[in-house]
Amino acid sequence: MELLAKLSTTPGVPGREDRVRDLILAETDGLFDEVSTDPMGSLIAVRRATAPGATDPTRVMLAAHMDQIGFLVRHVGSDGFLRVHNVGGFDPRNLFARLVNVATEGGDLPGVLNPGGKPVHLANAEERKKVPEITDLLVDLGLPAEQVQAQVKIGDMVTLAQPFSLVGNTAVGQCLDNRVACWLVIESLRQMVAASTLHTCEIHAVFTVQEEVGLRGALTSAHTVRPDIGIGIDTTLCVDTPGSPEDQRCTQQGAGAALTVMDGASIGDPRLLADFERVAQAHDIKTQRSILRAGGTDTAGIQRAGGGTRAFTLSVPTRYIHTVTEMVHLDDLHACRDLLAAFLADVK
Ligand SMILES: [Zn+2]
Repeated sequence: MELLAKLSTTPGVPGREDRVRDLILAETDGLFDEVSTDPMGSLIAVRRATAPGATDPTRVMLAAHMDQIGFLVRHVGSDGFLRVHNVGGFDPRNLFARLVNVATEGGDLPGVLNPGGKPVHLANAEERKKVPEITDLLVDLGLPAEQVQAQVKIGDMVTLAQPFSLVGNTAVGQCLDNRVACWLVIESLRQMVAASTLHTCEIHAVFTVQEEVGLRGALTSAHTVRPDIGIGIDTTLCVDTPGSPEDQRCTQQGAGAALTVMDGASIGDPRLLADFERVAQAHDIKTQRSILRAGGTDTAGIQRAGGGTRAFTLSVPTRYIHTVTEMVHLDDLHACRDLLAAFLADVK
């Protein structure tokens, strides 16, 4: 879990994924035959076929987005308070009284994110019910205005600060969407290397950028990779908590790797669904099918690149998604890792 903890606490919002990319590069030394960064910043890491005699191998693209939802500084006030613009979809109900990190050219600054206006003691009943908009939020750096203006620039990255924790049988932290997928790609390949598992396919592990603002990096990198098969790896809704009707759970925590039949942006290739289920059964790995009614993943970007690609989504059931307490069950995480490794070994 050490790697997941590092991934979860390394900031990288859409368009500012550099630190996550550097971490992945450092962690995957020797795992790939060829590594490059494309013009938008996606990291493309190739592992050639290891099975003897593999000619003209099937090209499998794995996509794990590196970006997390966050903010860019939109305005540096004459009073020293910062205003932010969100990159990715936040629920403002989760954004009160948060510690944040402001990444400036001169170094990181801790800050506090709060809505401006009256505290509870002074607000009337109507005001207390109102959920602030993101435009109402302020970052307070606790510094004199001149110092803030000298150091902070419009466009600097702001992320919520939250430690990574193990809670019961789960991992909890921020941006497990989608650092769990970065972890899964690395760990499934490490597992194959450790077990000397041969593969006849050529694996293009792509750590993509700007997914949270519209699957942008997956689309462009898929044009470069030109895969035969694309697998988007991401978190998916797990709403199996009290108060939620059974038919709207999407997935169930601890019930295994989620195979996303369709979501708001793509319909998974049915042959790949069948392949995943067959491989899972052969290796005794638990899976669950799910449909996500709204929202999409990198799969949609890959599927629509070039003349189109057969694509599918492997998902990790995640409670409290898009909060800083995203929760994944360790059994599901391990099921996804084992399934991905077994799938890659199975591709002809
Ligand atoms: Zn995601």
